[in-house]
Amino acid sequence: MPADMSVAPPAAGASPGRLALLGLPKADLEGVFAGLGEKPYRARQLMRWLYGRLVTDPAQMTDMSQALREQLAARCDLALPSIDACQEAADGTVKWRLAAGDGQLIETVFIPEEGRGTLCVSSQVGCALDCSFCATGRQGFNRNLGAAEIIGQVVLASRELGLVAGRSRVTNVVFMGMGEPLANFRAVVQACRVLVDDLGFQLSRRRVTVSTSGLVPQIRRLQAETNVALAVSLHAPDDELRNELVPINRRHPIAELLEACWEYAEATSAVGITFEYTMLAGVNDSEAQARRLAGLLANRPAKVNLIPFNPFPGTRYRRSSPEAINRFRQVLLDRGIMTITRRTRGDDIAAACGQLAGQVTNRVRVPLGSRQVDVTWAG
Ligand code: SAH
Ligand code: SF4
Repeated sequence: MPADMSVAPPAAGASPGRLALLGLPKADLEGVFAGLGEKPYRARQLMRWLYGRLVTDPAQMTDMSQALREQLAARCDLALPSIDACQEAADGTVKWRLAAGDGQLIETVFIPEEGRGTLCVSSQVGCALDCSFCATGRQGFNRNLGAAEIIGQVVLASRELGLVAGRSRVTNVVFMGMGEPLANFRAVVQACRVLVDDLGFQLSRRRVTVSTSGLVPQIRRLQAETNVALAVSLHAPDDELRNELVPINRRHPIAELLEACWEYAEATSAVGITFEYTMLAGVNDSEAQARRLAGLLANRPAKVNLIPFNPFPGTRYRRSSPEAINRFRQVLLDRGIMTITRRTRGDDIAAACGQLAGQVTNRVRVPLGSRQVDVTWAG
């Protein structure tokens, strides 16, 4: 795909008054079809079109009657987000900027690797959590995405990738794009279910990862409702520093967060929790801090992903040197903690971790600790 290819003008979001069908579970679709005077098996047929064949235009759903196709087109919404721009990085990473209505833009990134293709989806327009080293956080928050808009990113990317011969497919989905997924709980859980459903994308639960900055009550709810993989953005080995980097830590400090993580691993028989740790020069990358981190994670079902900091305009942070990252990693390895350094992907098109900014206007300013935030987080 050529860089900066403008494909279509931004369209408005979901059509008002029409029911969005993307991302709905089978039981709900059966209810929709019952309302149209149709048999339940239509739900299965529709899911095969949407997720098996990536067809969202009712006119092409040839095993449905003409009358039903017209009903679907008139009364339901199967629209995918429209592509505002698409860029491909030198390393094959693809970033789509998608219109989310009202002038808002979100971003979705595909990262091809040997033997797998990871799609990084957004869950919110912006983010309210304001981590000090994150471009999305600096954009502020506008709104949650619906399950249709989250699953729409997966259908759209899979379809676009399928148009290019030899391009790898989506084998993994990570909620590491714009937004805090657990602050949009209901829609994210609904989307996860479609991703792992036999009638959906049929991904194994280990290939779907929800990444959170540490919303402890929602980690517990997630454990009750799905068993997908969990990644936790830790970034500091002590509360004082984490309060500064990840402000939600003031509400849910490290000890409370880790307790929820170990419970999650046990309850879901997860292979382990992945801890993300963005390497910030002179801030959190010393060997003493590595030893302290090891003290928190040793002999636990934990692995660590070290993420070299990805700069963005106006940030006060700098990326740790490769030597500092290696030293930090070695301390963890010596204490038996599986640790990898994440390769920086797509940074030439601002598609790397934490660089996704999209376009967030009409921000809802939600200071931490206000009731408003709790309402937002109820998802
Ligand atoms: N909101 C979720 C998921 C999205 S961010 C979360 O915070 O977990 C995905 C990962 O990128 C998180 O670990 C996040 O802390 C990290 N990140 C944010 N900004 C970054 C930056 N500028 N450089 C490197 N990693 C960053
Ligand atoms: Fe939000 Fe995650 Fe960025 Fe923090 S790191 S501001 S939680 S997107």
